[in-house]
Amino acid sequence: MESPLKNLIDNFTCVICLGIVHDDARMCNQCSKLYCLECITQWVLEEQSSCPNCRATVILEELAYCRWAKDVAALIENQLHFTAENKISETNPTWCNEHENNNKMY
Ligand SMILES: [Zn+2]
Ligand SMILES: [Zn+2]
Repeated sequence: MESPLKNLIDNFTCVICLGIVHDDARMCNQCSKLYCLECITQWVLEEQSSCPNCRATVILEELAYCRWAKDVAALIENQLHFTAENKISETNPTWCNEHENNNKMY
């Protein structure tokens, strides 16, 4: 399934804890991947100072603070909830057929 929502979810999934980032998100300057502050701090201190996603050198103090991450994360969770509840209501194709017929009258 390729969709803008799925891409967004991928970008907002912290590859260290595999959850959607919320408050205190930090963004890799190279690949724009988001991480929880806690996760990336621990990663740099215990594992290595390179981005888990693109392997670029990560300096904690230089990671961008993502002010809007928690808003988008909330939106994603809303959307996931919404699409789960509304799977049945697919778009009715009747209008398209009628439109096609109208065009054929010429
Ligand atoms: Zn995390
Ligand atoms: Zn990166």
